[in-house]
Amino acid sequence: MLYLVAGGAGFLGSHLCDCLIADGHDVLCVDNLITGKKDNIRQLDNNIHFTFWQYDITKDFNKEQEKLLSRVNAIFHLASPASPNIRSQLSYMNFPVETLLANSLGTYRLLEVAKKNRAKFLYASSSEIYGEPKEHPQKETYFGNVNPNGIRSCYDEGKRFGEAITFSYLRKYDINARVVRIFNTYGPKMDKEDGRVISNFITMALSDKPLTIYGDGTQTRSFCYVSDLINGLRLALEKENTKGEVFNLGNDEEYSIKELAEMVQNATGKKITLSNDNLCPDDPTRRCPDLGRAKKILGYKPEISLEVGLKKTVDYFKKIV
Ligand code: UDP
Repeated sequence: MLYLVAGGAGFLGSHLCDCLIADGHDVLCVDNLITGKKDNIRQLDNNIHFTFWQYDITKDFNKEQEKLLSRVNAIFHLASPASPNIRSQLSYMNFPVETLLANSLGTYRLLEVAKKNRAKFLYASSSEIYGEPKEHPQKETYFGNVNPNGIRSCYDEGKRFGEAITFSYLRKYDINARVVRIFNTYGPKMDKEDGRVISNFITMALSDKPLTIYGDGTQTRSFCYVSDLINGLRLALEKENTKGEVFNLGNDEEYSIKELAEMVQNATGKKITLSNDNLCPDDPTRRCPDLGRAKKILGYKPEISLEVGLKKTVDYFKKIV
């Protein structure tokens, strides 16, 4: 099988490339490297089953590229900036137009490949499509509560458009597509600069700096270790009877940001201090997936507890901080 992984040099994409290669597949990784990093896929440099293109999926593919693309059997579309932290250079808020286009025009171009090849297609959507949820935990049937023009809208509405065009292709051209909505995920290879809460807290704790709590820290999230998420992505694409489905993927144990700070203290063995900062606009108050559908149809089950996952992540960050 030849898999195309768009966004394959990002945090999740690079783990996915490793996992597909380890299972004996061929991988074409396409990434424009605006937020992804070549270092994430360095270990695959000399692997004959791995091809990397530094390329923007919103651009037309050339004739040479079309040749390899015509052999693609399955597509994972993970290409998009994804950090919501405006304080980070890597935030999608610094790339609002690129984010909208990666999820709209980029999705369109990859769907065209899927249509021509009759290839399987997975669109990586996000829990952000639920916005500030009025339903808790969030089921796939919930339509969300999204600010259509706030500072997160480039991502939220980009992802909503991505879902819409994926389902339009499915209905009109009967392609073999599915959508997954990814909830907060963490683990090795997170970019320490991207401003996510877990990478921030671990970096700050290891450098003996106060952990910055935005708002009062009572907002909640549910954190999924990366290997569980990758397992879910592969099940969603590879299992029978997943065409036309939408799956929440993540972990359904919910923690407040204050509780997370304490857990980071335990995982790093550092005595932490806290400092307070303003909450960004449209920062959701609560977020937790209902995983019922993924469990039933995919047999998906997150295995790694937050305690264990944080330890593994701290081990990685100790090498880079
Ligand atoms: N957050 C925080 N301190 C930080 C980074 C994030 O308190 O240094 C909060 C942020 O306001 C949000 C939660 O942690 O409520 C999760 O943020 P993250 O950026 O990881 O992802 P999100 O869930 O917002 O997509």
